Amino acid sequence: MSTRVYLLDNGTLAIDMSFVTWNHGHGTEYRFPVYAIFIDHPQGKILVDTGFDKAWVERVLPFEKPRQEPSQTLTAQLALLGLRPEQITHVVNSHLHFDHCSGNTQFPDATFVMTKEELRHAFVPETFERLGYDRQLVDMPSAKMQLLDLRGYEYELVPGVTLIDTPGHSYGHMSVVVKLGSQAPMVFPIDVAWTRENLEHRHPMGLHVDPLQLQYSMMKIQNIADRIGGKIFLPHDAAEYPTYRKAPQGYEG
Ligand SMILES: [Zn+2]
Repeated sequence: MSTRVYLLDNGTLAIDMSFVTWNHGHGTEYRFPVYAIFIDHPQGKILVDTGFDKAWVERVLPFEKPRQEPSQTLTAQLALLGLRPEQITHVVNSHLHFDHCSGNTQFPDATFVMTKEELRHAFVPETFERLGYDRQLVDMPSAKMQLLDLRGYEYELVPGVTLIDTPGHSYGHMSVVVKLGSQAPMVFPIDVAWTRENLEHRHPMGLHVDPLQLQYSMMKIQNIADRIGGKIFLPHDAAEYPTYRKAPQGYEG
């Protein structure tokens, strides 16, 4: 069996454009997609990120105007592939902002993979990060955890699926690269660059812990993609998202 990758559509959120392109675009609303990534690998059924919960956003951050049809919940998206939550073996959290981890508790049988640094910050965020985190979303005392300490390095979770240390947007952020047999590797910067504008112009998003570090992480991801001939899939680019295949369609090598 070869590796297959599926993008699980999770709906959309809206923010002011100045959060996307720091200090530019004030007063313009940007509605952006959110998706999770499912990697069907011979050594595991791996979910990268678990999306947002509409009710949570409506309660805590109503100004982000969440839109999510019943068919766009993570469990509904997995059902498109004939999967039940208990079949997921690994949940990788790129970082623990609410739109990347709100479905975690739906996968009690999985091993959760994230950086130690990120988990610490989800519990005790800086004051300016507080809207991004909610410790109740990630406080799972009985969950199996694989806490990574990457510090500039990368970690191959299973052959061909590599987690890369890319801080700047958050302290313990990871990007993901997936090798496919005959097709170009898939490079997921995750929140190193929300949009093409961020990546190509090294224009940091307005949400970050260290904008300079974020720019270094952008360069790192671009260099990796260039070196391996990878295709970059951006996490929140409203213009590019319609060109990506979504579950039940997928990418396979
Ligand atoms: Zn984020």
